[in-house]
Amino acid sequence: MDSKTPKGPIEAKWNTYKNTINLVSPANKRKLDVIVVGTGLAGGAASATLAELGYNVKAFCFQDSPRRAHSIAAEGGINAAKNYQGDGDSIYRLFYDTVKGGDYRSREENVYRLSEVSTNIIDQCVAQGVPFARDYGGLLDNRSFGGVLVSRTFYAKGQTGQQLLLGAYSAMNRQIARGKIKMYNRHEMLDVVLVEGKARGIIARNLVSGEIEKHSAHAVVLATGGYGNVFYLSTNAMGSNVTASWKAHKKGAFFANPCFTQIHPTCIPVSGDYQSKLTLMSESLRNDGRIWVPKKTEDAKALRKGSLKPIDIPEEERDYYLERRYPAFGNLVPRDVASRAAKERCDAGFGVNKTGEAVFLDFASAIERYGKEQALLKGESQANKKRVKKLGTEVVRKKYGNLFQMYEKIVDENPYETPMMIYPAVHYTMGGVWVDYNLMTTIPGLYVTGEANFSDHGANRLGASALMQGLADGYFVLPYTIGDYLAKDISTGKIPNDSPAFLEAEKKVVNKINLLINNKGSLPADYFHKKLGKIMWNKCGMSRNKKNLQDAIKEIGSLRKMFWKEVLVPGQSNEFNEELAKAGRVADFLELGELFAKDALHREESCGGHFREEHQTKEGEALRKNEFQYVAAWEYKGEPKEAVLHKEDLVYKNIKVKERSYK
Ligand SMILES: Cc1cc2nc3c(=O)[nH]c(=O)nc-3n(C[C@H](O)[C@H](O)[C@H](O)COP(=O)(O)OP(=O)(O)OC[C@H]3O[C@@H](n4cnc5c(N)ncnc54)[C@H](O)[C@@H]3O)c2cc1C
Repeated sequence: MDSKTPKGPIEAKWNTYKNTINLVSPANKRKLDVIVVGTGLAGGAASATLAELGYNVKAFCFQDSPRRAHSIAAEGGINAAKNYQGDGDSIYRLFYDTVKGGDYRSREENVYRLSEVSTNIIDQCVAQGVPFARDYGGLLDNRSFGGVLVSRTFYAKGQTGQQLLLGAYSAMNRQIARGKIKMYNRHEMLDVVLVEGKARGIIARNLVSGEIEKHSAHAVVLATGGYGNVFYLSTNAMGSNVTASWKAHKKGAFFANPCFTQIHPTCIPVSGDYQSKLTLMSESLRNDGRIWVPKKTEDAKALRKGSLKPIDIPEEERDYYLERRYPAFGNLVPRDVASRAAKERCDAGFGVNKTGEAVFLDFASAIERYGKEQALLKGESQANKKRVKKLGTEVVRKKYGNLFQMYEKIVDENPYETPMMIYPAVHYTMGGVWVDYNLMTTIPGLYVTGEANFSDHGANRLGASALMQGLADGYFVLPYTIGDYLAKDISTGKIPNDSPAFLEAEKKVVNKINLLINNKGSLPADYFHKKLGKIMWNKCGMSRNKKNLQDAIKEIGSLRKMFWKEVLVPGQSNEFNEELAKAGRVADFLELGELFAKDALHREESCGGHFREEHQTKEGEALRKNEFQYVAAWEYKGEPKEAVLHKEDLVYKNIKVKERSYK
């Protein structure tokens, strides 16, 4: 595998690369076709830009419109190293934070490039009319996200993804109207077609008519999002799936870090067995919300029983554990750190809801702080408590109103009056299809962008950097790098879609669909998906150990066998059939799940949102590495072990810290 990262100092690589790659002339771009599967932020941005450059684009999505891609759900914001706040930000700091936040497991060259182009993204989106929040003077406003000490997150209330997607979609629409993008809504890609080892097209199913279609092109781009739904319950859109990436993998594209999953700390806790979706409360809430549990287990027990209310617990009896453990970052530590700390507190008996799996996110201090400020601004220095609360509530409502409303609708509690209850949940997958510096997979001509690839976030993605990556890939990276490859195809001519490779791929897809339809089992696809999700969460989730992972591999294998015996897909293949689409996606999750568990088994380390329980052993020692991580050495069953652990694991796993400098 060759990452093809350019030589030279990191800050010069991208420029040197752009100055030396092959270019395709405008006249030749018109001769080249590119398929883009996925029209979320990554794919929408890529389609619009490639078409603007002159390539002929065919874009595919399974929703009825690109506007409904999962990207629309993004709430909190998008990072960029603009340093508008003058608080010390820079391209280097964004790069450094992202690499450190990812537990040093991202490809640094890609991250540096990402930080460099981050500033262009904001200009591009403002030019498109994206209504970013502005401050009193009319300038673009910023807030802060986890794992950083600056405010570099641009936002549009709690709907940043939606507004950015509308920007990308309008850019696409211009090209659709010009005939440069042919849009295939409600089409699901079911295979990549390789001709002489190169990606030359896809097989797609028209989800409305059921027709199987063959589409050819000179290159194929997958921008098909993440696979967090392998856990069944996640904050992802219900339709998010792994099918496109998985089919590419089965055709030879390598997968990287499949087990790196982001478990987001601020989600509404699971309420019961009949739930099919989890809801994120945006990380932006940690700018003002304070996370706590009671100091005494008796209080936690009383909260769980319902005999005590959170507002009745006095200040001195509350444990603001993130502020206590990480005074520099406080509640805005990186997501993996916050998630692991929440789990640690709940496992230790301090959970605050009925199931014992929730901590508080409390806005009372923020409401009081903003209220006092407003009272002073209004000349009401004598304002009483009630008035201060009212004024403060208004400020909080303006900042986070839609998120508070969402919480109240789901939980039926008023978060302005009582703290929210939150718990970690599956949110994002850092793992994905392996790509080189050009975003090309190990299959020539097959590119993967956005959440579907693995490259930029290591073991943990920092908040507000997925939107940044998707748009960087789509608007500013792929349009350059793909040209380098396509320059060799200017004389190739149209790629026929009736070659043996296309016919064979089509046949395989049809056979698989027939297998599902004709199976006539007794259990719906959802039954297997839910079972898989339970295995994944219980055995491959936040805490992992060798035995559980080995069991998971066996259990997933048996579940997959049972699926192919027992799955029931009603209806026919030549019609609109959502159950058929779902069954196909679950079949792929059942294969990915096993690879995921195998990767987790091999990875004898704690990093990102995951910790290996084997670390829960005898006392060891830890050498300080940085604010969040330690290199720990200990003994396990008589054998010496060493790994990078998070600070809270050391406490949890009974490893003693010796303050020594780390080299
Ligand atoms: C609730 C929530 C809030 C978030 N908030 C933020 C935030 O504030 N900031 C941030 O940076 N990140 C945030 N994220 C993460 C971010 O939204 C995603 O990582 C990002 O939007 C992914 O974009 P994408 O373009 O890669 O994929 P997606 O938006 O998931 O788009 C995937 C596209 O691929 C298509 N597709 C998939 N499979 C197929 C197939 N087989 N055939 C045809 N088409 C297919 C879909 O139709 C869709 O068009 C959030 C995530 C969630 C869940």
